[in-house]
Formats: sequence, structure tokens, C-alpha cells
Amino acid sequence: MKHLYVHVPFCQRRCSYCDFSIAVRKHIPAREYVDAVLRELTFLGATDPGRQPGDLGGETLETLYLGGGTPSLLPPDAISALLTSLLDVFSATSSRDVFEVTLEANPEDVTPDSARAWRRAGINRVSLGAQSFDNRVLQWMHRSHDATRIGDAVRSLRAAGFDNISLDLIFALPAELERDWARDLDLAGSLLPAHLSLYGLTVEERTPLARWISRGATSAPNDERYAEEYLLAHVRLAAYGYHFYEVSNAARDGHRSRHNSAYWSGRAYLGLGPAAHSFDGKVRRWNLAAWEAYRRAVAARRSAVEAEEVLTEEQRELERLYLALRTDQGLPVTALYRPLPPATARWVERGWVEVRDQRLVCRPEGWLRLDALVSDLTNPGRTV
Ligand code: SF4
Repeated sequence: MKHLYVHVPFCQRRCSYCDFSIAVRKHIPAREYVDAVLRELTFLGATDPGRQPGDLGGETLETLYLGGGTPSLLPPDAISALLTSLLDVFSATSSRDVFEVTLEANPEDVTPDSARAWRRAGINRVSLGAQSFDNRVLQWMHRSHDATRIGDAVRSLRAAGFDNISLDLIFALPAELERDWARDLDLAGSLLPAHLSLYGLTVEERTPLARWISRGATSAPNDERYAEEYLLAHVRLAAYGYHFYEVSNAARDGHRSRHNSAYWSGRAYLGLGPAAHSFDGKVRRWNLAAWEAYRRAVAARRSAVEAEEVLTEEQRELERLYLALRTDQGLPVTALYRPLPPATARWVERGWVEVRDQRLVCRPEGWLRLDALVSDLTNPGRTV
């Protein structure tokens, strides 16, 4: 197994748009959490007597990703203990350039001390939940940082030796917020993080945002604004040297996320922690989502897996198609798609996708319409 995801479910409050299964805690049960994750590993046979480091899946780790939730709420010594124990079980690839260890962090958790401690613990990539540089917008989102903390966090991380920093931004916010998206893009670009992830706002059930919309206190995100802001991001960020290598992700100087790239290329991965997903190429499994349910299960030495799905050949093909078209590598134009179905050929004529080196590759306009493109490829009779 080359790719390991560890889910840290704790947050200090719930953001207005978030429906993740999180555990809101003022005090983080760090020790209990680390023990639970390591105990979960024992059910996977990773710590069986006689088993050697790296035996789980027979391969060395290339990426390790601490996601959440808010992993940066774990004290640095808990992060260090967790990584040390995981690397006792899995062996990391020997090349430091290849082994990518990401920590998702909220800007307010980054201080010069925490950044240095993370670095010492072996983290070499930090993904910051910036979301916006507008304090009004951050308050509306229920974020716990203000805009100045983002730049401070980037500077503290750089001073501690991190050159692989990613920022998340959310776009397509309701019109009445009058969010200046171009300004946010410029502020993000001028910090020159190695990587940016951009997510369009979606309305999930049972979130504060869904309640605000249902009582008319705010408007729903709209598709036109989404498309306008998405296309603007491509133009604006190109000026700062960013290349979109996936529908929602842009990188400078080849700093693609190796971990997420593994997902997009359909590779196997193991997930640990509440709500974590695992995939072995055919079967997808997911853990109990609620922290308490997960904690109780592993404490009772029961499996943390809630359910699994065996993908049919057809599902795997559809997934492969989607994943390929999400990235700038595109879909190989195999015999299956040669000649291109007429509906797909019209996408090329319109300039929404291109055929490059025998691969069908989306342009930003194609990424905006990915579902329709896949539908045209799989139902060649349809018209655009
Ligand atoms: S910090 Fe992230 S996981 Fe936590 S509530 Fe906000 S969006 Fe959700």
C-alpha cells in the first residue's frame, strides 16, 4: 500500500457550509485518538508478530495524508507520536523527495513553534484552509481565523522550512455577500503557495447554510456565478504561474499533490480513523463516521469498517473515465472512442475539450461540464 490517509475528525466549531462528520470539541482527546487509530491498524494485521515494516500491502509508503476535520488541532507531540508509530508499521520510501506527508491545518493553528514542531515530526506539506481573505466572508462561513492569519501562517511555515504549502479557497458564494473573488485570487496568488485548491460552494442538507437558504436569509449559489468565477480563476492564476492539473487543483513548479493524484489515477489507498475510506482497486470500504462510534468499536476490538462496496466492471470503467477527464492527463482515445462519437466531436469543435497526444483533455469550459461530457461519451446518441 503506497498511500495512507488518516482522518482526524475534530473541529472547534462547525463552518456554515460543512456537513462532514466531525466532532466539535473544545478539548481534543488527542491521546485517545492516536491510540484508537493505532488500535485500528492492529485489526488490519499490520502489527502482527513477525510482520516487518512495509509488509502491509507489501509496498513502501509514498504519501501519508492527515486530513479532517482539523488535524492541526492535535498537539504537535500527538502528531509526532502518530507519525512515528505509523512509520514503525509502514516503511516510507527512502527518497525524501518522494515521500509526501501532508497535514491539513487551519491558519490560526500555525505559529512559529507549531510549524517547527510539525517539520520535526516529518510533515513536509501543509494544506491551509484559507477559504477567503475577506473577514466578512470568513465570519459568514463561521471560520475561526481572520484574513491576516493566512499570510502569517504562510510566513511561519516558510520560516520553518516548508516550501510545499497549499491554500484552499471557496468560490461561488451568494451574491449578497459581494465577495471580491478577483481580489481573493490575487491575494492568494501573491503569497505564491506551491499549490491551490478551489472549491465551489455547495449546499448540503442539515447545514447552517441550508437553513439560511430555506428561510430566505441568503440566496442559493448559482451556476452562472460558479462558471464565471471558475473561468476567472484559470485566467488570474495563470498570471502567477499556476497550472490547473485537475479540475479543482492548480500547482506551481510541478508541486502537484502526490497523494490526491493517486486517488485520481485510481490507485489503491488505505484510510484510518473515523469516516476514512479505503480502496484496493476493486472494493471500497468506509469506516464508522462518528468519532464516538468509531472509538467504541476499536476499544471493543471490533472492526471500524461500517460498510463496503464491490465495484462492478462497469462502475470501475465509469470511474476511470471520470477520473481521467478530471486531470490534465485526460482520457486515452482508445479504439473504444475512435472515431469520437459525434456528440463528443462537437465538444472538440467548441473548444471545450481538445485531443492532445491521442488523449481527450478538458479545457476549463469542459471541466465546467464534466458530467455532460461523460454522459456523451457513454451515451453516444445524446446531443450537446
Ligand atoms: S474546519 Fe473543515 S471540517 Fe471543520 S467544520 Fe470547518 S469545513 Fe468542516
